[in-house]
Amino acid sequence: MTRLPRDPGPAGWNRLLPDPDPPTPLDGKITADWVVIGAGFAGLAAAHRLSKEARGDRIVVLDAVRVGDGPAGRNSGFMIDLPHDLTSGDYAGALAADLAQTQDNRRGIAHAQDMAQDYGLGDEAFVMSGKINGAASSKGHAHNQSFAKHLSAMGEPFEVFDAARMRDITGTDYYQSGLFTPGSAMIQPAMYVRGVAAGLRSNRVSIYENSPVTALERRGDWVVTTPNGQVTAPRVILAVNGHLNSFGYVPGRLMHVFTYASMTRALSPREVASLGGDRVWGLTPADPMGTTVRRVSGVGGDRIIIRNRFTFDPSLEVSDTQLARVGRDHDRSFAQRFAALGSVDMQYRWGGRLCLSRNNVQVIGELEKGLYSACCQNGLGTAKGTLAGGLAAELAMGMTSPALARALAAVDPARLPPAPIAQFGATVYLKLQERRAGREL
Ligand SMILES: Cc1cc2nc3c(=O)[nH]c(=O)nc-3n(C[C@H](O)[C@H](O)[C@H](O)COP(=O)(O)OP(=O)(O)OC[C@H]3O[C@@H](n4cnc5c(N)ncnc54)[C@H](O)[C@@H]3O)c2cc1C
Repeated sequence: MTRLPRDPGPAGWNRLLPDPDPPTPLDGKITADWVVIGAGFAGLAAAHRLSKEARGDRIVVLDAVRVGDGPAGRNSGFMIDLPHDLTSGDYAGALAADLAQTQDNRRGIAHAQDMAQDYGLGDEAFVMSGKINGAASSKGHAHNQSFAKHLSAMGEPFEVFDAARMRDITGTDYYQSGLFTPGSAMIQPAMYVRGVAAGLRSNRVSIYENSPVTALERRGDWVVTTPNGQVTAPRVILAVNGHLNSFGYVPGRLMHVFTYASMTRALSPREVASLGGDRVWGLTPADPMGTTVRRVSGVGGDRIIIRNRFTFDPSLEVSDTQLARVGRDHDRSFAQRFAALGSVDMQYRWGGRLCLSRNNVQVIGELEKGLYSACCQNGLGTAKGTLAGGLAAELAMGMTSPALARALAAVDPARLPPAPIAQFGATVYLKLQERRAGREL
């Protein structure tokens, strides 16, 4: 292993939940039928599919950190069904590819819904609510119109909200319009992944947290080493998103990008009343480079969460200085939208890894005999990670499906330019696009 994951700042969503039981790191040498490395969306979905289909098999899941503290517990919780190409101007791409992508994302969401039902998760953890693309400028409105046209061509339903409706929902008059689409789910990410992990644990499924994999070798079977233990198994699923590179696979083809969030302290009843609007809502930005906003009310009280900024970080790490710098952008975006609330401190700020490929493809397949990948979710890991985990498990069990056939037929991630050029090009591109996002940021 060349690098282990480091997650910047506290995972705010997870801090809202009761402290979990103490972790159980892997200790000693054991054998299993399956090892899943990574307990994010992909790893949990893979373990769930295996637990259903490979009845009687013993499944071991390993993660370097606590469930809910990694990127799966750090995101904004939009499980989006529609095309969501972050590198495009308005999320959309070519029609046929977008139809296939939507079908696949829905498969991922349906699997997540099955898990939420299997393990009795409530609406705060997972709900099929749809989502709104909020437009804060005429340019954002134009993006939404162009996206709506594309949705019509796809035969997808949508509803356009005017400024008054947006104010009724959000309590702020920052938004000129909105584009509502009904097929997305919203999750409290840490509550969802912890709920799924708790449901999976059984005498056949063991989840070892704080158990970073430090070596992975094939000696007949696969031998997976952690600081205090070792698992030997014939089949391993790598569900580590961009850390696939750290295991030595797909070098020079994965882009490591961080994005960031800040969560307010709990709002007082007076602040809640002065804000008005619905108690629970979420907006993705009309411009992919803009600001995502969520208003939540539940465990942890009433809060607002802001997400924006992308940085290209091939080292898979960012500094505290970087996190603080982005925090200032969050405060500005918050103040612009919620001036009426006055000064409300951010209680938690954090960042998290995304893995993108230049051509927006995932890495799902068999890397070596008995070693499978469910990685590179292109910024939409809630849906695409769940899809990838399910498909990698199906492939490993010898099952077939149209979605799996499509994933296996996908081209490889496009090669990146040499490192200094990639770093320079991506940084300039992101800065330029963010500047262009204007009021949407
Ligand atoms: C602020 C923010 C907002 C976001 N918003 C959204 C959103 O609204 N919707 C959406 O779909 N996506 C969003 N994302 C992206 C989403 O969180 C990721 O795409 C998703 O978590 C990827 O899922 P995954 O299971 O593939 O990987 P991860 O969630 O990264 O899980 C992989 C796990 O592997 C573990 N791991 C890595 N290396 C090792 C090792 N050597 N040994 C053991 N374990 C290891 C890690 O600790 C990690 O827990 C957001 C991300 C951030 C940071």
